[in-house]
Amino acid sequence: MSTAVRTTCPYCGVGCGVIAEPGPRGVHVRGDPDHPANHGRLCAKGANLGETVGDGGRLRHPEIRGRRVSWFRALDEVADGFRRVIDTHGPEAVAIYASGQLLTEDYYLANKLMKGYIGAANIDTNSRLCMSSAVAAHEHAFGEDVVPGDYTDLDLANLTVLVGSNAAWCHPVLYRRLRDAREADPQRRMVVIDPRTTATAREADLHLAIRPGTDVWLFNGLLAHLARTGAIDRDWVEAHTGGLDAAVDAARRSAPDTTEVARACGLVEADVARFFDWFAATPRTLTLFSQGVNQSSSGTDKAGAIVNCHLATGRVGRPGAGPFSLTGQPNAMGGREVGGLANTLAGHRGFDAADAVQAFWDSPAIAREPGLKAVDLFEAIHAGRVRAVWIMATNPAVSLPDAERVREALHRCELVVVSDMTRETDTAAWADVLLPAAAWGEKDGTVTNSERRISRQRPFRDAPGEARPDWWMIAAVARRMGYTGFDYAGPHEIFDEHARLSALDGAPRAFDIGGLAGLDRAGYDALAPRQWPLPAAGGAEHPRLFADGGFPTADGRARLQAVEPRPPAHATDADYPLSLNSGRVRDHWHTLTRSARAPRLCGHTPEPRLAVSPADAAALGLATGGLARVESAWGTTVVRVEITPEQAPGAVFLPMHWSEQFASGGRAGALVNPAVCPRSGEPEFKHTPVRVTALATAWQGVAVARGRLDVTALDCWTRVPGRGHERYELAHGEVPADWHAWARTLLDDGTDGDWLEYADPRAGRYRAALIGSDGSLHACVYATPDEEGLPERYWLTNLFEAGPLDGTARFAVLAGRPSAVTG
Ligand code: SF4
Repeated sequence: MSTAVRTTCPYCGVGCGVIAEPGPRGVHVRGDPDHPANHGRLCAKGANLGETVGDGGRLRHPEIRGRRVSWFRALDEVADGFRRVIDTHGPEAVAIYASGQLLTEDYYLANKLMKGYIGAANIDTNSRLCMSSAVAAHEHAFGEDVVPGDYTDLDLANLTVLVGSNAAWCHPVLYRRLRDAREADPQRRMVVIDPRTTATAREADLHLAIRPGTDVWLFNGLLAHLARTGAIDRDWVEAHTGGLDAAVDAARRSAPDTTEVARACGLVEADVARFFDWFAATPRTLTLFSQGVNQSSSGTDKAGAIVNCHLATGRVGRPGAGPFSLTGQPNAMGGREVGGLANTLAGHRGFDAADAVQAFWDSPAIAREPGLKAVDLFEAIHAGRVRAVWIMATNPAVSLPDAERVREALHRCELVVVSDMTRETDTAAWADVLLPAAAWGEKDGTVTNSERRISRQRPFRDAPGEARPDWWMIAAVARRMGYTGFDYAGPHEIFDEHARLSALDGAPRAFDIGGLAGLDRAGYDALAPRQWPLPAAGGAEHPRLFADGGFPTADGRARLQAVEPRPPAHATDADYPLSLNSGRVRDHWHTLTRSARAPRLCGHTPEPRLAVSPADAAALGLATGGLARVESAWGTTVVRVEITPEQAPGAVFLPMHWSEQFASGGRAGALVNPAVCPRSGEPEFKHTPVRVTALATAWQGVAVARGRLDVTALDCWTRVPGRGHERYELAHGEVPADWHAWARTLLDDGTDGDWLEYADPRAGRYRAALIGSDGSLHACVYATPDEEGLPERYWLTNLFEAGPLDGTARFAVLAGRPSAVTG
């Protein structure tokens, strides 16, 4: 009998279907050919999911202040702590900080507990950090947080505009679909708008490397151009929208012509004109936008300026056309559906529907106004206004801006509860109560992807130790707090309640999944991927909404907005002359808690390096591999440098993934300014003024060992997990007084064996290796003045799986390269 289980990839918002097949040698994962999001395709992260599954490194038991306790004891501690704070300081003094990694059912219960029973709206989520500006723009324009389009639009668009999106790395399966469409019809064009020359930008027909933060000037200029050239669809606009004249007036004032746009955005005027002409002439234009737009102190305006251009041309919800927000996380959309953001109630409702939602829940209280958004929430913890917080499946000590202040806030907080699958997050260090959560492959529920498609995540293995699903622990705490309404036989009953709530009477909304209400356990288990709206009345599913108007606003019309461009919140100046941008790399995810479990994923970008343009590097005296100090007004870090022409002069880039668990420096969040978009609350991750200083780099090195090494005394290190070994990339400002003694201290864990050693003090080279008593390589370290003399990593780490080494192989280890004999 096949044990293959159809489920959904837990990484990004593409929401690819996968088939997981547990076997004696691990879990084999392949793409689900029948899933409409990916038709069997997977990217490297999805394809290597099997490597991330397992018991190693997992949090297995509840703990209170570092001591293992029973679930009863841990749940009592959480419930009593929350109750005590509420009784003393009121419901606003407690909070939940959730995650787009949660399943919809988990999210639903967290929101119900906080808004419907505790009676405050202090629940927010890390999705605030990636797409809340798109949410705010959708709500303004369409009356509801709705992505109007469908992935098939990628196949149909004649012009695809990617704004602030490195889809080739961040949404790879969608990008491959787009590339296929362009290969099938070379007339199809792609424009990429991004300050960096990313992998996506390199394949564009036109790359507009705009000055960071100038997107509104560009899209206002486009709107003015559309008005000037008669490209506005007057009939459609007249019938289905409002606000065009004010939007065009604002656009004309700020970006009257291509000359002005080129000047404001730092572009060549002919390129601006080409983009405007292509957009105006191509009815099937699809604009994909992502974090480069959203993560800004004017993120909602940027997204709004993009949506304006589509509304003005009637290119919304038509085949191959529309504004399309690419969601970062696997269930950011599901979290939005249930009210995971502090500024909405459940079911895409506003607080004007509080009475109806309370009546549906039959709850003792209801939040009647928005709660604290993520950055404000941790500021309130810092100030002592929020005294108890439950952090679910996320790592704010790394990922929030001004992350040092977040750490201070957690340190001050009276009660910090952390539920996660691992203790190896920086945030877990501040947990009073640690709750072991089930992980992907163990959890059971639903997620919604970027195209509004609900898919099942199904379990195929048991959770290790006493790990439990998030919904289970939320319900258990709620019951201990004395609340009824949290008795569920399983996630299917939560989903049913969620579906019924979505269909509650009230103003019409696109988010209506009443047609999925009433599913029993078997129906829920068998649920195929479905795209909302799915009203109880049935009818065909609508891959594209709004082609014929009918927006869920009071008058049924979409709203264009007058957008006034403004620069980023903090300007670069003489003290901090460079603009720091942060973001993802191809094969890692969030703060590495999952992707670092897959050795194959650690190879593409093994360490966090500061990307610097050749011009800035020359001016600052930086070298690739060398050390640099990066300072902002909020924090400091030391990282290695990568000089690359992909980076424009005046700006630097640091990946967002690395935490203290994996690297000495590179926590981008510690540098990032806490400015947020006033409308969405989304932080400005794409622009923080910094200064960069070259540091003396006496040597660079690599060490590999079968266990963990203590490298914390070095200026810069990164741990790269491998199969049966840990690799460390190293750099330091001083040469050890005694290499021999230093290497013994680093590598000697008491293992018997032979030491091999080579030193060339004049050339600054040192190598040492410990061969275990069984003849296999146990640990080694290599140091040189620059990277050139270091061994090739793939060869080196493979030696740890090679078994006993003969004399030739030992010589190769000492030489730091394969011998001519062994290859
Ligand atoms: Fe997973 Fe996203 Fe890759 Fe699809 S594109 S396999 S959802 S990470």
